[in-house]
Amino acid sequence: MKRPPDLAILKLHKGLQKAESSMLIQLRTGRTGLRHFLNKVRVPGYESGQCECDMGLETPRHVLLHCPHESERREALKESQGGSLDFNRLLDTPTGALAASKWMIRSGRIPQFQLAGTLLYKEEE
Ligand SMILES: [Zn+2]
Repeated sequence: MKRPPDLAILKLHKGLQKAESSMLIQLRTGRTGLRHFLNKVRVPGYESGQCECDMGLETPRHVLLHCPHESERREALKESQGGSLDFNRLLDTPTGALAASKWMIRSGRIPQFQLAGTLLYKEEE
């Protein structure tokens, strides 16, 4: 990044745990540990960017809003956002950012966050 992050973005990260903050960065930049990106940058073992549901590329938008494998967990996310989900609102507002980062960590889809998820949210299980 050439310039320091602006205040609005810093505000999104305020109060987030370190793992949540790095998840938020991944979600906002699209440079994630999800298959679509890993395939795009040619990480060995990711010959396809398709989600395991086979209904689209595994992108943050797909997982957060559309993946049928997450439909059950998505209800809680929806509820936290006042009953409806909007991709930009999830990534651009403080409440959305916290809920989306947590939710994505807990999905267990990105291996580097699995341990963080176990440690951070143990008490909430
Ligand atoms: Zn899917």
